Amino acid sequence: MIYKCMEKIKTIYSPVFLTDYPTVDCENPDRVEFIYAKIKDIADIIEPEPCTLSDLALCHSEAIIKTVARTKEVFDTAILAVGGAMMAAEIALREPSFALIRPPGHHAGHNFNGGFCFFNNMAIAVKNLLAHDTVESALIVDIDLHYGNGTHDIVKSDPRIAFRDIDARSREGFFKDLEEALADASNFDVLGCSVGFDTYVRDWGGLLYGEDYHKVGSMLFSANQRLFCLLEGGYYVADLGTNTSFLLQGILKACS
Ligand SMILES: [Zn+2]
Repeated sequence: MIYKCMEKIKTIYSPVFLTDYPTVDCENPDRVEFIYAKIKDIADIIEPEPCTLSDLALCHSEAIIKTVARTKEVFDTAILAVGGAMMAAEIALREPSFALIRPPGHHAGHNFNGGFCFFNNMAIAVKNLLAHDTVESALIVDIDLHYGNGTHDIVKSDPRIAFRDIDARSREGFFKDLEEALADASNFDVLGCSVGFDTYVRDWGGLLYGEDYHKVGSMLFSANQRLFCLLEGGYYVADLGTNTSFLLQGILKACS
């Protein structure tokens, strides 16, 4: 299927993601605020709905759900982030999408969480599509600096889902690994990308320049047009918005 050229990308966002819930200092509301400010001209904003308890149960144990629910601000923001991810995945069946959400999710497994993550936005979004028979297979590519251990934990025993984590030590290695990870992406019904900008040259990873995210966006969309991207990490707030804009423009460019 070839999509029509778009000027804006469907972006799931809510001011609720600016909630200053208890977490580490670096995973703060400024992250999404700065991104929103930089991408709003190329983003077609859609407000998410919170997910339900049964959506959470697609991927998480009752114990973990109950633990997160003890802190209302965290729980309310986290279920909206999951709902946003689910919406982004559903939109991807028609056109590419981006979920500008927090908290991130890829370190949340079936019965554990950590690394600033509470529920696994990506895994729930994909399992929800599969549960409704909307798609029969999915590829998840995680380009965050850190290993998506939570996503791996949840999807490892599901033959319908392939999970590939880019764990490069250099810029060249990153693009080589990404190319390999996407080589057969067109064979899957949908492509979900866990996007972390902590690979940025001025962030913890020190790997990629801002313009490189443009190339990443183009590579992702060229590999599978049923693409959705979810925000995971990225802590160099001053350039987070610019880097996100590069990624989205890369998707739009490949779409044109
Ligand atoms: Zn990370």
